[in-house]
Amino acid sequence: MPSSRVSRRRVLKAAGAAALGAGASLSAQGGAPAITTNTQAGRRFKAFVKYNQNRPTVIDLTARALTGNNVLLRVEAAQTCYSSIDQVLKNDDRVPETAGATIVGHGGVGIVEAVGPAVNSVRVGDRVVLNLHASCGRCYNCLNMRSDKCRAGNVPDVAIADLGNTPVFGRRGAMSELAITGEEYLTPVFTDVSSAELSMLTCVGGCGLGMTMTNAPVEPASDVVIFGAGPVGLSAVMGARVKGASRIIVVEPIPYRRDLARKLGATDVVDPNEYKGRTPIPNAPGNGDRFRDELVTRLREMTRPRTDRIWAGGGRNGPHHVIEAVGGDTWTPKRHPQGPDPTGVTVLNQGWELCSSIGTLVTCSVGHPRTAFVSLPASQWADGAKHHWPGTGGGTNDRRDMERYVRLTETGQINLKALVGRTYPLAQTAAAWEIIAERDVIATVVTPNS
Ligand SMILES: [Zn+2]
Ligand SMILES: [Zn+2]
Repeated sequence: MPSSRVSRRRVLKAAGAAALGAGASLSAQGGAPAITTNTQAGRRFKAFVKYNQNRPTVIDLTARALTGNNVLLRVEAAQTCYSSIDQVLKNDDRVPETAGATIVGHGGVGIVEAVGPAVNSVRVGDRVVLNLHASCGRCYNCLNMRSDKCRAGNVPDVAIADLGNTPVFGRRGAMSELAITGEEYLTPVFTDVSSAELSMLTCVGGCGLGMTMTNAPVEPASDVVIFGAGPVGLSAVMGARVKGASRIIVVEPIPYRRDLARKLGATDVVDPNEYKGRTPIPNAPGNGDRFRDELVTRLREMTRPRTDRIWAGGGRNGPHHVIEAVGGDTWTPKRHPQGPDPTGVTVLNQGWELCSSIGTLVTCSVGHPRTAFVSLPASQWADGAKHHWPGTGGGTNDRRDMERYVRLTETGQINLKALVGRTYPLAQTAAAWEIIAERDVIATVVTPNS
């Protein structure tokens, strides 16, 4: 009805005025919306850009105007995730020739230099972590405790800059002097920890820490088996140690990575290439193993309770928790051994088989062949009581967990410095990825403004 519409409009107007008032008062308390600066339109900057099917190169771009809740950062450090190797080191025929340009990378740390008019959680001058995963706090997945699967990441990308007449995308791209992104990807951090170390918390480190510190109920005195000692697996080791696991067994084919795993908290290490046998068991019972798998057998032996008497605390067959941080090899390293299955599929089966009948399997890997399937015994899958927590974010909710990870880094309980192998300037971004592809170091960091 007309009269109610008029009245409603008045109410909304009054509410808007009240909101402005509240903002002003919040400002005085130090929790205010950020002050909008100019739109930054036309600002020139260099970035590592993928254009059509070619390998990316460092190119000059022009920023578009900041709108809505977009934020512009001066990037201090960005990590080189293994999952971008196809994009960086290969001519990718999956990219349509007509596609626009994209700033490479997902994850970094920077200083906020300008904010759009709707931004309210970061301010100019803040140091922020820009992550692969958004954390809007309002979508269905965020409201149901899976912020690492925030739906904001599914919103169609919008161009943030221009390369001549070509629109440039890449709201998570941090291989760039400037990053332009939505505030839902940003978490302010207040610490003296270096930006290179903090960049390890984006994607890889946040995933690994989350795998043992969020959804999987790793408790004091747990047995945890972790497949893979790259930056994700090593972070999972540190998370398991923080949570008080008494047995942390790392399965990793590269010797220097096994050594580092020990330094960071692993109690035991296993080379999977020493236990490669895996043969089908004909006529296996419904709820029994389908394979004689030497690695699973070895790991079960290592985590066997001290008694088999089920009324005396025995009867568990396998560790409490299994963490899978392996994935498919998209590059064949020249100087270091690969695992028994470079597709990364077998380890997904082994993880399921290995964890105890009421245990937890946490998976996060990527890079498997696009035609690959995991095959599980139907009766185990339908009737077992194993819990599976998948996801490349590892369950980390940035807005909740980043502060915890930073505090644990400050106290030395998490050692992010141990993950950073070398740092590179923007001009050498491709080289930073080549050394990751070869697995010569755990991780590299690009410092675009150094
Ligand atoms: Zn990543
Ligand atoms: Zn969300």
